[in-house]
Amino acid sequence: MAPVRTRFAPSPTGYLHIGGVRTALFNWLFARRHGGQFILRIDDTDQQRNIAEALEPILDGFRWLGIDWDEGAEVGGPYEPYYQSQRLERYQAAAQKLIDDGFAYYDYSTTEEVAAERDAAMAEKRPFQYSRKWMATTPEERAKFEAEGRAFVVRMKMPREGACEFTDLVRGDVSFEWSKENDHVIQRNDGSCLYHLASVVDDYDFKISHVIRAEEHLPNTPRQIFIGQSLGYELPKYAHLPYVAEPGSKNKLSKRKLEKYLKNPDFKRLNEHGEEIAKRMGLQTSADTFNPVIVDFYELTGYLPSAILNYLVLLGWSLDDKTEDFTVEQMIENFSLERVTKAPASFDCKKLWAFQDRHMQALSDAEKAAGMMPYLQKAGLVADPAAEGEMEKLEQIVTACGDRLKTMGDIISYADYFYVADDKMEMDEKGFKKRLGTPESQAILATFRNHLSDVEDWTVEHLDKEMHSFIDEAGIKIGDLIHAVRLSVTGKTVGPGMFDCLAILGKESCLHRMDATLKLAQETFPPEAE
Ligand code: GLU
Repeated sequence: MAPVRTRFAPSPTGYLHIGGVRTALFNWLFARRHGGQFILRIDDTDQQRNIAEALEPILDGFRWLGIDWDEGAEVGGPYEPYYQSQRLERYQAAAQKLIDDGFAYYDYSTTEEVAAERDAAMAEKRPFQYSRKWMATTPEERAKFEAEGRAFVVRMKMPREGACEFTDLVRGDVSFEWSKENDHVIQRNDGSCLYHLASVVDDYDFKISHVIRAEEHLPNTPRQIFIGQSLGYELPKYAHLPYVAEPGSKNKLSKRKLEKYLKNPDFKRLNEHGEEIAKRMGLQTSADTFNPVIVDFYELTGYLPSAILNYLVLLGWSLDDKTEDFTVEQMIENFSLERVTKAPASFDCKKLWAFQDRHMQALSDAEKAAGMMPYLQKAGLVADPAAEGEMEKLEQIVTACGDRLKTMGDIISYADYFYVADDKMEMDEKGFKKRLGTPESQAILATFRNHLSDVEDWTVEHLDKEMHSFIDEAGIKIGDLIHAVRLSVTGKTVGPGMFDCLAILGKESCLHRMDATLKLAQETFPPEAE
């Protein structure tokens, strides 16, 4: 068997679509499984924008996920260039050969003339087939049309009878009637060439053995096969993957339908979670560049690449009916095109979240802390991660928070109060009113605060003991105090163990915060307002 060579061929759009990653992942796994090469080709023929800028988020996304490429963008390789914008001469030579061999022709029709033929066919309810009335096959015919001031395009002279039959490695035997094919344009008047020609030439030049791509390209395959055969190329094998579909539907997942997806509660939750973290990092996000359809969203929010890949590999592939957890090595070992399904796999946020949770909880606290530190830095909560005690403090917080931290970014939305200055702590208004809205509750907290000021042994065990002896003596219930204490030092109604919070914050900080909270409570809820 020829060496396995697969490719992913993104257009530089400025973002990496999660469905695109699934397609790239299957190509990558297939290449790795067979000891082959994975190529990252760039389809930038129709680019108006700055290519490097529009490509960066895509390459970044793959790097973050650990999907590496052997040849292609940036890394080069034996068949470079791998950018379509730099390969025009190759396509032009191929177009010329197709013309010379009679498989393509100069066409001098206008758009209106072809449209009129199409309309007439529709009116008569017959399939449209271009009359080829303005086809020029001799220099004389070309000269005649040009004298009329007409411009040309180059079209494939597609077969009109019979069918294109091929075996797709996912969909099995497929057949497309040639009569339904148009004479596709392969080259424009200005000499530029179109995707179908470019793609076929590239797959041949790069010695691609398997074209593994999304289902939307299945109907393109007959024309590409015809172009390839007409050029005398040996054809690659084709495998068309099912769509990554919208949550709860069979339609293709699209970045543009965000509003619709936000009606799905799981999608909405996922989106809001990411937005909260982005906000705390001070990022200006727009739905166009930051939402769960785009890979950047997961990187910025602090998901684990291993969790994303584990989730994505199951979108259209399975090993059996039960195994769900795969390391990347296990994916490589087990991946096969035979086990790819034909049915679209719906994007299930809940499931993705569950994978993230599992992968996250499999990390040690030290690993989590190392992954979270950059988020604290980005949020401006830690200035110098290497400063003495900084890493130890974070590890303590991570241990105290346990499995409540679901992504690396959660540290800044869930536990930021460990890092803000004592006088900058945000207060949960509802909880504040509930727990410290009366002079009695304020008085209990004030007494306990004074009690704490004499405590020397500021450890979880000892603070626990102190509080219990305090409530026994005061004859109050633990609920009358513990919530107010939490609120007074964290500003929140929920969080990790209360004594962990006190111990991590340290005595000085806790007393400061209690004082400030009490002052605020007395001002906000004075006795006469009762
Ligand atoms: N740039 C094309 C696309 O987006 C690549 C198609 C192909 O894989 O042949 O979808």
